[in-house]
Amino acid sequence: MTQIYDLHSHSNTSDGALSPRDLVTRAAEKAVTTLALTDHDTVYGLAEAQTCAQQLNIRLINGIEVSAQWEKQYIHIVGLNIDPQHEALQKIIRESQIMREERAEKIALKLAKKGILGALPAIQKIVGEGMVTRTHFADFLVSHFHVATQQEAFDRYLAEGKPAYVSTTWTPLETAVQAIRAAGGVPVVAHPLRYKLTAARMKKLLGAFKNFDGQAIEVVTGRYNPDEIRILANYAKQFEFAGSVGSDFHSPANPWIELGKLATLPVSVKPVWELWE
Ligand code: AMP
Ligand code: MN
Ligand code: MN
Ligand code: MN
Repeated sequence: MTQIYDLHSHSNTSDGALSPRDLVTRAAEKAVTTLALTDHDTVYGLAEAQTCAQQLNIRLINGIEVSAQWEKQYIHIVGLNIDPQHEALQKIIRESQIMREERAEKIALKLAKKGILGALPAIQKIVGEGMVTRTHFADFLVSHFHVATQQEAFDRYLAEGKPAYVSTTWTPLETAVQAIRAAGGVPVVAHPLRYKLTAARMKKLLGAFKNFDGQAIEVVTGRYNPDEIRILANYAKQFEFAGSVGSDFHSPANPWIELGKLATLPVSVKPVWELWE
């Protein structure tokens, strides 16, 4: 049977639209054989996802997407095949949760100054035990008719330099990588081309990540074109990183990105799953 891997996805325990159960069910419907649930700074959805995965006979890799910081740059590090209960991971999860809650209050204040009231209580009701993200603010702005789309919410309010942007100090890259390793997981640089780094700076980032014991980079993601896959495969070879494959699926409302709908990993790149299978 052909194996279909999708090692980057979100549920509504962070900024995804589907519950962990509905996400795993959709993955099975899309013929995914191995799915990683990688919510932002939380492992809260993994238990429900595992239960559902066992029922549907699909492999669920315990994952997380850690918000990290490297030289003032906000970088996402996916951790794959982690022990979700490991103390090193739990510590950065607790710290991120506090930072995210404090940031959310500040974002809400900035929106209030623009005459947009009530964002925080509305979001807290939706988020519950999960992680509050800027995506939740974007959805609030859309549902209350301040903007037409999520993208417009970022462009007008939430992106860096916009009126409701609040800068945050995230987990240092080294701490994020080491916590994932300590928890038995594989640290992966998520969507490396989305940070819009120059080639020199990308190499500096990947060199630092390698020094900290990072092991892989995403080579194939939902939006990548063949040129981008080639560039990333070259970085993987150059730095001896394994390559990961993940859609970064958030919601069925985005028709461009679907679970398991991914290009194949170039044969020159060692698949990240060989590190645990
Ligand atoms: P946060 O980690 O809370 O700052 O939120 C980051 C999340 O917001 C990302 O994981 C994306 O899902 C989403 N996001 C960030 N920038 C944009 C953007 N320009 N347009 C749409 N979504 C974005
Ligand atoms: Mn997200
Ligand atoms: Mn990300
Ligand atoms: Mn993601």
